[in-house]
Amino acid sequence: MYKPQIVILGAGYSGLMTATKLQKILHRNEADITLVNINDYHYQTSWLHETAAGTLKPERTIIPIRDVINQEKINLVIDEVVMIKEKEKIVKLKNRELSYDILVIGLGFEAEAITNPNLNDHIFPIGNLNNARVLREHLEYNFAKYANEEKKNQARLNIVIAGGGFTGVGYAGELVDRIPDLSKEYGVDRTQVRVILVECESTILPGFHNEFINYAMNSLESRGVEFVTDAEIIETKEDRVVYEKLGKRIELPTKTVVWAGGVRGNSLLEESGIPTNNGKVEVENDLRVPDNEAIYVVGDCANIRNPETGRLYPANAEIAIASAETAAENIKAQINGEALIPFQLNNKTVIASLGTSDGVAVSLNGRNSFGWKANLMKKICLNRYLLRLGGIHLLLKKGRFNFFQA
Ligand SMILES: Cc1cc2nc3c(=O)[nH]c(=O)nc-3n(C[C@H](O)[C@H](O)[C@H](O)COP(=O)(O)OP(=O)(O)OC[C@H]3O[C@@H](n4cnc5c(N)ncnc54)[C@H](O)[C@@H]3O)c2cc1C
Repeated sequence: MYKPQIVILGAGYSGLMTATKLQKILHRNEADITLVNINDYHYQTSWLHETAAGTLKPERTIIPIRDVINQEKINLVIDEVVMIKEKEKIVKLKNRELSYDILVIGLGFEAEAITNPNLNDHIFPIGNLNNARVLREHLEYNFAKYANEEKKNQARLNIVIAGGGFTGVGYAGELVDRIPDLSKEYGVDRTQVRVILVECESTILPGFHNEFINYAMNSLESRGVEFVTDAEIIETKEDRVVYEKLGKRIELPTKTVVWAGGVRGNSLLEESGIPTNNGKVEVENDLRVPDNEAIYVVGDCANIRNPETGRLYPANAEIAIASAETAAENIKAQINGEALIPFQLNNKTVIASLGTSDGVAVSLNGRNSFGWKANLMKKICLNRYLLRLGGIHLLLKKGRFNFFQA
């Protein structure tokens, strides 16, 4: 009997969900499944801004992959993917090669390339668990230094966030919730701490409804966030950031510029010669690469078009999980010679987190929620994901049950 080799790249939201769904719906004798990831753990990317601000311990975001996969059905390979050879149906890893009959690419995102060379140093991205940890340590170091130095250096307490999209806004919300405790811990006057969010568009959360934007701005402003809109960061130095607003060059002393300036698909796809736009493959509605029936792309590496609106779905965890489920169903159908199904999104709610107990949720059916209700919805979504991924055991171990706090 034909037993295809299925290789899944990446164990983030999309890759790990593809693997756990396949282990449920395929019998052991139907396919050999291999999951490749750079770490032996999965981290919840959409919780990273909390880890980076220090409102959530890093170990809360980590799930050992072996805890959620059935190793009798899935072969786990801890290695770095370096190249996909489409024609040969081979994936080159750092330490070995794997051949495949069906490939699932779920390698996630990376920070948008910074074209201005003056911005490459002294910035803190929040793209993975390790750089979230670095940022958290860096903040604590500067609070400790400030408390200790005789001639106080205000740059240590000025925290600049570059970018007012979901990540920047979410991080700002967590940070202002953390500052009172951080100030108390290090004996720093909290009124000296400034959080400044710089956005190049005329508003934060560009593209969203005004009601949504106003709520987010008022909530963050009331907790101390300062907004500088229509401003472009042009230079970062060890002790300052330079931005341009209305033709004026403005310097601000800071040791912390948090980079939340947009993401793109993993560059490994274009380096492998797979046609992409901003690192993402525009997939067919069954989530396969056009003209290649052997490769599925899921999560942030995929551009998926909504057939109702003609527009691309946004990149977020909900879409990553939903795309994984469709890909797994289609792989089973493909193996059995059945018709493939088109991607469909059932849950159409977008939630922006604004700190440990605040948020805004916009539902495409027009029902919006604000404040604790939106925050509660976010926690319910997170818990539902854990339940789907690893059942009740994982939910009880990692779930968010404190519904009115982190
Ligand atoms: C700070 C932050 C906050 C966010 N908040 C939200 C939110 O509130 N709501 C929401 O819906 N979305 C949010 N997002 C977006 C969401 O996290 C992503 O859309 C989602 O993680 C995409 O899932 P994915 O599976 O494509 O990628 P990921 O979850 O990033 O997984 C990619 C996996 O591939 C692995 N990998 C990458 N390269 C290699 C390689 N070369 N070799 C081996 N393994 C590799 C990575 O280690 C990782 O495990 C947030 C993102 C960030 C950064």
